[in-house]
Amino acid sequence: MRIISTFKSELNQLFVFQLEDGNKVEAVFYRGDTLCVSTQVGCAIGCPFCLSGSKGLVRNLSSEEIYKQYEFLKDSFPIKRIAVAGIGEPLMNYQNVVESFWKFKKAGLKVSFYTTGFPYRHLKELLKLPHNGLTVSIHSTRSDKRKVLVPHGGDIDALINTLREELASMSKTKKKKISLAYLLIKGVNDSYEDLEDFAKLVLELGVSATLLYYNATGSFEQMSQEEYEDKFLFLKKYGIKVTLSTRFRKDPLGGCGTLVINRN
Ligand code: SF4
Repeated sequence: MRIISTFKSELNQLFVFQLEDGNKVEAVFYRGDTLCVSTQVGCAIGCPFCLSGSKGLVRNLSSEEIYKQYEFLKDSFPIKRIAVAGIGEPLMNYQNVVESFWKFKKAGLKVSFYTTGFPYRHLKELLKLPHNGLTVSIHSTRSDKRKVLVPHGGDIDALINTLREELASMSKTKKKKISLAYLLIKGVNDSYEDLEDFAKLVLELGVSATLLYYNATGSFEQMSQEEYEDKFLFLKKYGIKVTLSTRFRKDPLGGCGTLVINRN
């Protein structure tokens, strides 16, 4: 495994790793202290707003391949946190992801996860790990819309029930580290009714919300900044804690949904 190219914008630095079998995955250094790592070559979930899954799943990364993305860069960058948010669904490669998690912890790093929550049995286990943040992609509380946005990510009602069961016995401190993500897609899931349902779920579960901005990584129309902020203010009216996409996440280089396998 080796780094074969790097790309740099004003905000993010992206590294392309070539694996022993010739496949290529990516990691991004951002926010001055965080490395976003990949867990799979491709992704089977197939979200239409994400380039990482556009070619399906090729294979899982081993725990060494996940950890090495950090090891290659650790002496050149002040990495304090790992975001398991790159290419792949971490719960679909759970064993290797957990092994790498413990290696990161042993190296003194904070580790946060971003997941669709599928498969649910692994979500239950992930919630119990001593992570430093776990964001679960909801995107819609309605079955038909969620199926469009997260095609192979299971049934939304089953996900919500799993979260209800697991969070019921969780301490307030632990709940503070959990967030539900909602990627706003114009004309698909951005009506006030959609957002109201989402806000009610966030309130019921006692967690926070992450309102994500769509990066034009698919065929959907991009939302204006004003519209995005308007939806943010609407959610805030419910008294929930809502975080917006940072400029690092909106960057066309290394932002949400922009990582690809086998980049030329
Ligand atoms: S958003 Fe995550 S789960 Fe969906 S296709 Fe991209 S990498 Fe896979």
